Amino acid sequence: MQQEEIPSIIIIGGGLGGLTLYHALIKNKDKKEFNVKIFERESSPQDRWQGFHIGLASFGIQSLLKCIPPSTASNLQKAMPDPIPDVEYHSISITDHTGKQLFKPNIKQVKNVYEIANTPDSFILTYRDILRNVLLENVPVQWNKKCTGYEETEDGVLVYFEDGSQEFCNILVGADGVNSPIRKQKVPELQLFDYGITFINADVPVPKSIMDILLKIHDKCCFQKTLGLNGDVTAVAFRIIPIENYKDKDEPHYRTTIGYAYPTSLDDDSDKKVDDNDPATVVEHVKLMIRKLRPNCEYTDIMLQLWELVPKTTPNEQDDYPFKTYNTIQRRKMQDINPLSVNSWKTSRVTLIGDAAHAMSPVMGLGANNAIQDADNLSQALLNYSPDNSISCIKEYENKMLKRRSADVLKSRSAALSQSSPIGYFGVIIRNTILKIMHITWNVYFFVNNLISRK
Ligand SMILES: Cc1cc2nc3c(=O)[nH]c(=O)nc-3n(C[C@H](O)[C@H](O)[C@H](O)COP(=O)(O)OP(=O)(O)OC[C@H]3O[C@@H](n4cnc5c(N)ncnc54)[C@H](O)[C@@H]3O)c2cc1C
Repeated sequence: MQQEEIPSIIIIGGGLGGLTLYHALIKNKDKKEFNVKIFERESSPQDRWQGFHIGLASFGIQSLLKCIPPSTASNLQKAMPDPIPDVEYHSISITDHTGKQLFKPNIKQVKNVYEIANTPDSFILTYRDILRNVLLENVPVQWNKKCTGYEETEDGVLVYFEDGSQEFCNILVGADGVNSPIRKQKVPELQLFDYGITFINADVPVPKSIMDILLKIHDKCCFQKTLGLNGDVTAVAFRIIPIENYKDKDEPHYRTTIGYAYPTSLDDDSDKKVDDNDPATVVEHVKLMIRKLRPNCEYTDIMLQLWELVPKTTPNEQDDYPFKTYNTIQRRKMQDINPLSVNSWKTSRVTLIGDAAHAMSPVMGLGANNAIQDADNLSQALLNYSPDNSISCIKEYENKMLKRRSADVLKSRSAALSQSSPIGYFGVIIRNTILKIMHITWNVYFFVNNLISRK
């Protein structure tokens, strides 16, 4: 009897989505075996800064735990240490431009990553770069392999790489991020939607003296946002875990992600002096915008101090800077891709997961969660794979993915555009009132829900 050939899958992209998919396909080997290869354009795990704190929600963690083997799960602590009771509050706090609190939803604080998976609405601040490192363990990523395109044949897909090599597979998965060449070939009509918002992010070591003030204003919340009057938004995210072996031994410092977003139309003549290849000018630009758009107050001073901590040159010694690799900061355009904005999706042996299919604004913190859930959903759909039904498996995955992710893209877009719309005097009153009503409604709901669940 002739043995059935093991089908092959190629994943392009070793980011959070691609790596999770790799683990899931290998974990499910007993149920359905695939030969899986994963290719990444970067030259090594440290090639590019993978940083920032990201919030992982209950549904993302649920999928992650389903996809990864126990050995990888046991290392998740490194990327998402257990929340520290009474010190950290894993939730969002939104204040106005002076630091007056508008919205801080009470959400159930959990003990560890396993509890999050079973607690809807909970989330945990996670180190994105470390999560990627954890997911890379035991994955034979082929580095320095930039995919340039593919060709579908009768029985499979030929995948082309920049170095002139090619590979053949039965199914090709583009997990290659927002600028995915696979998406550009599969659905060329699908375009990035530009919000007209500029954003800038950096990771900085924040001293305890500043952290204490932020924690007081935001009631221990680890994810903090302020809304200005001109569509300008500041964001700060951190864990209250001191950076190990930091050069300043006198005072603990905390790794912190800071962000600043503003309507691009506010860039005026001064932006001509900004060179996105020169971080010193970008930092100066952010500080200038903050000074221009924010009132003179304690909160504005703190924001300026935080931006002053951003390196003005690329640190080349690890000793200089507490994070493994570092890419200098740049202004970036906020963009997304709504996968259902075109009706030309045709299911084939080539499919997409994560940002490649549905990049979304970071405002609601859904991108990585969705990339991980895509990996889970696709691996589940592929359990039914046979040579005759490969397309229907992918169709099952894509139908669900397109509908759900399009809704999240639009939700995140609407949140980003409304928080970045300049508002006048009356606008502020309306916005602040809406947020305060949301605050009360949410927290009453949380209180009642808690009472019921205790009975
Ligand atoms: C500031 C900021 C804050 C965010 N906060 C959150 C948050 O709180 N919660 C959340 O859930 N999400 C958040 N996100 C979004 C999240 O980081 C992304 O949605 C997530 O990383 C997407 O994963 P991915 O695997 O689809 O793509 P990526 O992580 O972008 O990985 C794609 C990989 O493909 C590789 N690649 C690209 N092109 C090629 C090629 N041609 N050949 C080979 N390899 C290629 C890339 O090098 C990369 O390694 C945030 C994003 C930003 C920018």
